[in-house]
Amino acid sequence: MCVHIAVTDGLASIAVWDPDEVSIRVARGAPTRDVLREVADILLIDLGAPGSRGGPLRCFCGMRVELPHELLPRMLTAEAG
Ligand SMILES: [Zn+2]
Repeated sequence: MCVHIAVTDGLASIAVWDPDEVSIRVARGAPTRDVLREVADILLIDLGAPGSRGGPLRCFCGMRVELPHELLPRMLTAEAG
């Protein structure tokens, strides 16, 4: 089962690994840059996923981890309509 990312209200920190749901919970409204850095750290350090900081986020199996649309800046999602 692949890691997925869930946006959550009321988190104590920017990103939290939830092993029960195999998901990384990220705080709603947190700056995208900070979220990406925290999520990359969890994947690379805590989960031992392949890849590198600054590259695409990858699951421990090597698949790309998709970010929820609401995390992306408006200018990126506007084109997708
Ligand atoms: Zn996977």
